[in-house]
Amino acid sequence: MSFRDPVTGGWNSAYFDMEAGKKLSTRIPGTFSFVICDIVGFTYINDLFGFEMGNKVLSHVYSTLEKYLTDNDLLCRQNGDRFNLILTNSSSDGLDIRQWAPIFELVCDIGLIPGLETMVAKHMPYLNLKVGIYNITDTAEPIEIMRDKALTAMKSEDAKQTSNHVSLGFYTDKEAKKKAREFAISRKMEKALKNGEFEAYLQPKLNLKTGSVTGAEALVRWNDAELGIIPPADFIPVMERYGFVTDIDMYVFGESCRILRMWMDRGFNPIRISSNFSGLHLRNRHFVEELAHIAERWKIDPCYLEIEFSEESVFEDIENTKRMEAKLRDAGFMFSMDDFGSGYSSMSLISELDIDIIKLDRAFFSDSFFPDAGRQFVLDALIELGHNLGMEVIAEGVENEAQLQFLCKIRCDMAQGYSISKPLSVDAFEEKYIRNEFTWPGIRELAEYLDEKEEVQENE
Ligand code: C2E
Ligand code: MG
Ligand code: MG
Repeated sequence: MSFRDPVTGGWNSAYFDMEAGKKLSTRIPGTFSFVICDIVGFTYINDLFGFEMGNKVLSHVYSTLEKYLTDNDLLCRQNGDRFNLILTNSSSDGLDIRQWAPIFELVCDIGLIPGLETMVAKHMPYLNLKVGIYNITDTAEPIEIMRDKALTAMKSEDAKQTSNHVSLGFYTDKEAKKKAREFAISRKMEKALKNGEFEAYLQPKLNLKTGSVTGAEALVRWNDAELGIIPPADFIPVMERYGFVTDIDMYVFGESCRILRMWMDRGFNPIRISSNFSGLHLRNRHFVEELAHIAERWKIDPCYLEIEFSEESVFEDIENTKRMEAKLRDAGFMFSMDDFGSGYSSMSLISELDIDIIKLDRAFFSDSFFPDAGRQFVLDALIELGHNLGMEVIAEGVENEAQLQFLCKIRCDMAQGYSISKPLSVDAFEEKYIRNEFTWPGIRELAEYLDEKEEVQENE
């Protein structure tokens, strides 16, 4: 078994996990910290400048961190753009931020990497880094738990921007309480599933050519008598860890079929409904047969059923994804990649896959009224690439009218987001979009005007 990471030439996570226990059991004075570093928007580098540049950046991150390690410290590239460290601290207060914050800032300075094309230096001289720190309280804890705590710290809402390009989060009491809630959730899940406490909500997808709603995403909701409405972000990751998520996914998919059958029996035209699937399904060889069996039971043509896998799960398991998409296609289902652009991905890998639809991640729109010039450029390029590869492109998390108009102008196919509607109960969705004719004002006219303009330009 190889312990070297071919991209950075450093240690891989297999080595790290094997050595961690040994390091943590050494009797040296002081304490240890588990640290996770993640590059924000690494995908831009891969997409815009190519894989080779991306790899150079990853090597730079590794070698910069490595320079500041002592013999008792440990470093690896865990996967993608994520790095793990175990650091020894001389003080009992945990990691010395005054020492490490400037090091993390140095990691961000990619403008000076020798051999890195001036393109990168000009467009993106600095990386942004997210760092999560868990000052280890129990050195006998399994390494997976420590990693999980550092990850929780990295994603914590209390994480702070400590310098121009670095945000730091610590694992605190608050995070520990959150973990306790997770545990409470995990204990209730199985019963809730049996008792039918889960419900599918529908969020409309607006067709940017016609201005009508031609699709919906089914999103699970859990209403617990004691804990109240629990958002999927709180329980899906817990379910994933405990394995129940695959049952929930199948339940929501079954609900999509049931809803479509109900509408068709009442004489309404069907729309396409997508539902979300955990990456765990990629390893199930009978997955597509199971889907086909459910669709058949409700007599629904698979072309109305869209199967969403997240970018993260696809890139973590590219071989199984390839196998799966061929089977999905043969069975007639639509295959879409969710949250595209949120993590470690590349257009060259996407082109190897037979994807019908890409869903642009909501982060493109979430933190500003309007995407800035850099994001506009990326969005435009992604839509064009998607179309050249014969894919349909949907934008998610569209929050205002200006964004909607912009997407229409850059020829995005569909939009989904709060500007159109929040996810609705099935009854409310049916009332608004199925029973009644719905059109978004001005969209069809804008699309027709753009078509005509394009035609004129082509004829000139
Ligand atoms: P997702 O698949 O990317 O779903 C879109 C999420 O964005 C939904 O959150 C939706 O309510 C939210 N959203 C929609 N429009 C906007 C907007 O304009 N602005 C913002 N900020 N957010 C918007 P929700 O329902 O909380 O779901 C979160 C995630 O949970 C989903 O992300 C999906 O990854 C997961 N999930 C939901 N249902 C299921 C399921 O049945 N199975 C699995 N495996 N995962 C699910
Ligand atoms: Mg989704
Ligand atoms: Mg999404």
